[in-house]
Amino acid sequence: MDTYSNFIAGDWVSSSDTILNINPSDTNDVVGEYATASLDQLEDAISAASHASRTWGVSGVQLRADCLDRIGSEILARKDELGTLLAREEGKTLPEAIGEVGRAGQIFKFYAGEALRIPGMSMPSVRPGVDVEIRREALGVVGLITPWNFPIAIPAWKIAPALAYGNTVILKPAELTPGSTWALADIISRSGLPSGVFNLVNGPGRVIGEKLLNDDRVSGISFTGSVNTGRIVSSACSARGAKAQLEMGGKNPLIVLADADMDTAVNCALNGAFFSTGQRCTASSRLIVEDAIHDAFVDALKQKLDALVVGHALDMSTQIGPVVDQRQFDQNQNYLTIAREEGAQDIYGGEAVEAETPGFFMKPALIVDTANSLRINQEEIFGPVATTIRVSDLDEAMAVANDTRFGLSAGICTTSLNSARRFQREAKAGMVMVNLPTAGVDYHVPFGGTKASSQGSREQGSFAAEFYTSVKTAYIGS
Ligand code: ADP
Repeated sequence: MDTYSNFIAGDWVSSSDTILNINPSDTNDVVGEYATASLDQLEDAISAASHASRTWGVSGVQLRADCLDRIGSEILARKDELGTLLAREEGKTLPEAIGEVGRAGQIFKFYAGEALRIPGMSMPSVRPGVDVEIRREALGVVGLITPWNFPIAIPAWKIAPALAYGNTVILKPAELTPGSTWALADIISRSGLPSGVFNLVNGPGRVIGEKLLNDDRVSGISFTGSVNTGRIVSSACSARGAKAQLEMGGKNPLIVLADADMDTAVNCALNGAFFSTGQRCTASSRLIVEDAIHDAFVDALKQKLDALVVGHALDMSTQIGPVVDQRQFDQNQNYLTIAREEGAQDIYGGEAVEAETPGFFMKPALIVDTANSLRINQEEIFGPVATTIRVSDLDEAMAVANDTRFGLSAGICTTSLNSARRFQREAKAGMVMVNLPTAGVDYHVPFGGTKASSQGSREQGSFAAEFYTSVKTAYIGS
């Protein structure tokens, strides 16, 4: 079995502690063994990143653009191979995984251009003879802490802007899916970046992650993960005055009005709720359906669910891959038990699926006709589980959609322009979708939410500059 090292101060550094990367479609298949950085190695990474930031922050933007472009080109050229690795370690289907890799490549290409377009401003002072210049400067060292569900795209959308705007990086990926992120680090290590500018440190969140949060040389943390860990990140950063950008959970509503095109609505629900095994923070977990078409919608969705092929992520006929691990599988099942205990009468699917290989296969579950106040409608499940909530009209639909502590993405299916525009105005979410699934976003525009879903400024697109730079106002007299 291959063993993969961490990348620290320009070198690949091994360690006696390792994490096994297990294929959730076949637990007999070990993808690789990944070194866990020691605290001393993390210290080396922080000090290298800190040293490198003195020069990288003022490096020419052409160098940054060239490195980012090279990284993007290699990712795109190896998209099928990297997608296969991703599907093998995370369990999303091969087309989904190749799509994610392609997106990571596009992100690097986008920020190669952004490196040349760092915005600034100049204007006359209110004092005659004085000029004012407003510039964006790199923060310094940034710590990037990433989750398992998008192991190449999320690191990409943090690393690429961090480097484009002149920061040095320490990346701490999720323990469950170190492979795709390692492959990305390997590509980055050959892109021409000076040593120390990019560092990869695998390891447990509670050890390596927490040390990163609490080191004064790390000026900002960009985190994607659970709400509970997000709170730890937020308080550690605010206690020492570091910048924090947090992307956490969702409990995203998809409203289906009686005037919706039924095929569009059912396909939006199917894709948004269940594709990628429901393991997306933008998944549509609450389907809020107008009474007049609720039952017909449920029947049509059940028919689609019946036809879905659940299986090995690398099998081309598979439409829904496995759940990522035993813990997540148990959590999904536990929420189905909670639903029953809370009085849900109609739970469709949800059972374990037998396959040729030992894996965490589960039939998608639809919990029909539920109240929004139930735990299954208020807590993020992060699996192929969705509910329907019956409402009498758009007023009630809006109230239910917004009755959640989360606010990442929200969708509506309707043929009424008025209803769509009202939804767009009133939805308390960072991203709103009309006649589209709540999941599935572009890479060149802002990503993020409101309320407990997000904290700090938006990720992606040119809005990422807000987090990865600080603003300096210069007054120049003559
Ligand atoms: P999930 O439940 O989806 O795994 P987590 O929030 O636990 O979400 O994990 C997201 C990332 O945060 C992972 O890289 C994980 O290692 C890291 N992490 C977990 N706990 C901590 C912590 N206490 N401090 C810093 N990072 C952490």
